[in-house]
Amino acid sequence: MPKITADIVIAGCGAAGLFAALNLDASLECIILNKSGINMSSSMYAQGGIAAVVNFAESTDDIYQHISDTLTAGAGLCNEEAARVLAQEAQDNIRRLIDMGVSFDTMDGKLLLTREGGHGQNRILHCGGDATGLHLTKKLYELASRRENIRIINNCFLSDIVVEDDGADGIIALDADGKPCFFEASKIIVATGGIGGIYEKSTNPPCATGDGIAAAARAGAVVSDMEFVQFHPTAFVNPDESGRYFLISEAVRGEGAILKNKYGEAFMKGTHPLAELAPRDIVSRAISCEMKRTDSEYVYLDITDKPKEFLKNRFPTIYAECMKNGIDISKSPIPVMPVQHYFMGGIRTDINGRTNINGLYACGEAACTGVHGANRLASNSLLECLVFGRRCAVHINGDNTSKRKIGEIVADTSDGELDFDDVRKTIRRIVTSACGIVRSERELSRAKLLADDILRRLETVQIKTKEAVEAYNLVQLASAILDSCIKRKESVGAHYRID
Ligand SMILES: Cc1cc2nc3c(=O)[nH]c(=O)nc-3n(C[C@H](O)[C@H](O)[C@H](O)COP(=O)(O)OP(=O)(O)OC[C@H]3O[C@@H](n4cnc5c(N)ncnc54)[C@H](O)[C@@H]3O)c2cc1C
Repeated sequence: MPKITADIVIAGCGAAGLFAALNLDASLECIILNKSGINMSSSMYAQGGIAAVVNFAESTDDIYQHISDTLTAGAGLCNEEAARVLAQEAQDNIRRLIDMGVSFDTMDGKLLLTREGGHGQNRILHCGGDATGLHLTKKLYELASRRENIRIINNCFLSDIVVEDDGADGIIALDADGKPCFFEASKIIVATGGIGGIYEKSTNPPCATGDGIAAAARAGAVVSDMEFVQFHPTAFVNPDESGRYFLISEAVRGEGAILKNKYGEAFMKGTHPLAELAPRDIVSRAISCEMKRTDSEYVYLDITDKPKEFLKNRFPTIYAECMKNGIDISKSPIPVMPVQHYFMGGIRTDINGRTNINGLYACGEAACTGVHGANRLASNSLLECLVFGRRCAVHINGDNTSKRKIGEIVADTSDGELDFDDVRKTIRRIVTSACGIVRSERELSRAKLLADDILRRLETVQIKTKEAVEAYNLVQLASAILDSCIKRKESVGAHYRID
C-alpha cells in the first residue's frame, strides 16, 4: 500500500476541516481529504448564518444571553464550559473571517443581524442573503488551496483510523479509483460532518454517512450523545436529484412566515409562547402532529404577506429553488415537512477537540463537545466548526510530539456476496421508522435487533470498497444510536419518548 507522510491529516473539507487547516502553523505539513469533491458538504448548503455576539454590530445583545439561549435549547444537558467557550470566542473568529475576506451582509456599512428559533436576540450574521455556507466555505477553500503547507486531495475516502500503543498513527483511505493508501501522521483531525445518510429524508448531502465517527469508534474513541438527532421542521416536500431535501431556513420564519395546515389554518399559536420561533423539536412535533391530525403529507409555510422584491433579496436561494419547483413564494405558501437535519452526538472531545486517543482530534458536526446538549440552537453549528476547529489547530501548534512509524497494513481483497445498496436502504428504513421525531421502547428494541442482525452479517464479509465501508458505517452508527435511544427513557430536547 502506498504511504504518504504529513504532520497532520484532516478528514473533511467542510467549514470545520478547512478552518482548522488555516489555523495551523505554516511550518506544519497538512493534508486534507474529502470524499465527494469540494462542493459536497453540509457547510456548502448552510443558509441561515452564524450565531455570534459581536461588539462591532449595533445590538443590545451580550454573550451571557447567547450562553443562556444555548443552554436552554440544550435542555439542561450541555457542557456548560463548551457553551461558554463557544459564545466567548465567537467575536474573535468572526473578526478573523472578515480579515480573511468573508463578506457578511451589511446595510449602510453596518452588519445585518437576524433572529432564528430559540434566540432571544437578533444575532445571526449571514452572507449573500441565505447563502452563508456557500460564501464561507468557498472562501476558506480558496485560501487553503493557496497555502504552501496545505495539500487538498479530492475524492479520497477515509476508511479507517490507525492507532498504535502511544496514539494516532495515520489513516487508511481509498483514492478515487478505490485503491487503499496509508496517510501517516501523528495528528489526525476528524471533520467528516454528520449522519443524514442514515435517514430516508435529510437535508444533508448524501455523502454525510458518519464515516469519521464510525472509524474513530472502531479505533477506540469514545462517542457520546448518540440519541440526539435534530429534525428540521421545514424542508421542501420534494427531494432534489441527489435525494437531498432542500431546507427552507428558519430565517424565513424569523421574517414572519406562518405555518398553516391544508385548510389554511395557522396552528402554532397556543402550542408554544414563541409560536413559529419555538425550538426546532417543538415545531417539528407540532407539524408532525398536525400532518397526522389532518391526514396530510405536509403543511404550508406562508410568507406571501412580504413583497416579492424583499423575498428575492433576502432569500435568493430559497426563492430560486421554490421557483424551480413552480412555486412563487410571494404568491403561494411553500409545502414543507420535518426531515433529519443535524447530529448533536459524535466523537467525544474536550474543549480543545481532543479525543480519548492521543493525537486524535475531532471538530464540527462529527465531534461532540457537548456544546449542543440534547438540542442544537440554530446557527450555533457553523460557529462550533470555527471555534473548535481553530482550537484543534492551536492545540496541535503547541504540541511537538514526534512522528512514529507504522507496521504493515493488510488490505482486504473481496467484498463477499452482500448487496451493500440493499443494506443501506434497509438500515435507512429501520432508523427512519424507529428513531424519528417520536420514539417508543417497543419500536426501538425491534429496530435494534434488526440492525444488530445486519451488523453481524456484515462482520462475516470482506469490506473493501467505499460503498461497502459506507454501508458498514451506517449500520454501526445506527446500532449505537438505537442503543442510546433505548437507554434514554425520558423525553429531553430532540429525543421524544411517547412511552
Ligand atoms: C441544508 C443545511 C442548512 C444548514 N444551515 C445552517 C446554518 O444556517 N447555520 C449553521 O450554523 N448551521 C447550519 N447547518 C449545519 C451546518 O452546516 C453543519 O453542521 C456544518 O456545516 C458541518 O460542518 P463540518 O465541517 O463539520 O461538516 P461538512 O460541512 O458536512 O463537511 C464534511 C466533509 O467531510 C468529508 N467527508 C465525509 N466523509 C468522509 C470520508 N469518509 N473520507 C473523506 N472525507 C469525508 C466531506 O466530503 C466533506 O468535505 C445546515 C446544514 C444543512 C444540511
